[in-house]
Amino acid sequence: MEEKFEFLKENVERIREEMTRAALSAGRKPEEILLCAACKTRTVEMVKASAALPIDLFGENLVQELVEKTDAGAYLGKPGHFIGHLQTNKIRQVLGRASLIQSVDSQRLLLALEKEAAKRDLTQDILVEVNIGREESKTGILPEELWPLLELAGGQPHIRVKGLMAIPPAALGEKESRGYFAAMRKLFEQADTLGYPNQSMEVLSMGMSDDFANAILEGATLVRVGTAIYGPRYYPPKK
Ligand SMILES: *Cc1c(COP(=O)(O)O)cnc(C)c1O
Repeated sequence: MEEKFEFLKENVERIREEMTRAALSAGRKPEEILLCAACKTRTVEMVKASAALPIDLFGENLVQELVEKTDAGAYLGKPGHFIGHLQTNKIRQVLGRASLIQSVDSQRLLLALEKEAAKRDLTQDILVEVNIGREESKTGILPEELWPLLELAGGQPHIRVKGLMAIPPAALGEKESRGYFAAMRKLFEQADTLGYPNQSMEVLSMGMSDDFANAILEGATLVRVGTAIYGPRYYPPKK
């Protein structure tokens, strides 16, 4: 590891330890929980350095960054997921690049994905993003919209629903934060019980830098961590 990237190693080790601790205290197997590095705004060089560490996969928010980093081999062969809001006019660049689209947040997007996947004769794995905090500012479907969406997905032969994703309200106390994660887990288990076609509830994606341990305590199988791995994000001022 190049000296300027040594900090990544320390950060990932610390996160892995915290993940293990949370898993064990919940009576879960640490190896069942995946670490997704949320690497928006990070350079190809930095992502490559991090890919040599015990990170399981990478998550991108912007189509342009997914294209750039997959085409540059930045993940060193590890999977890349799409975790941002996906516009239907950009689907073509994401299919075939993202092994899992975590952020399906409307019936319209679901149907557009089916159409494009059918055209290419492939099956696309997705998660449904739920706006569990019912925040106006956030994407994701409302909890009560989940059942009609899963029903619709069940009729799409080129879509496989692998689970749910959520970004609960930020900066809450532990109790409130765990409450949202627990509500997600309940939806996840209910969906599994209802057993829609083309669905296998395997991935519950929730928890970020500030709250991934709480998410694991409440059943997350995949946590998406950015800042705690790479440091603060820098957004250049708009010209
Ligand atoms: C940026 C981002 C994360 C990671 O956020 P951090 O607070 O930097 O850990 C996780 N999920 C999504 C969807 C993101 O956009």
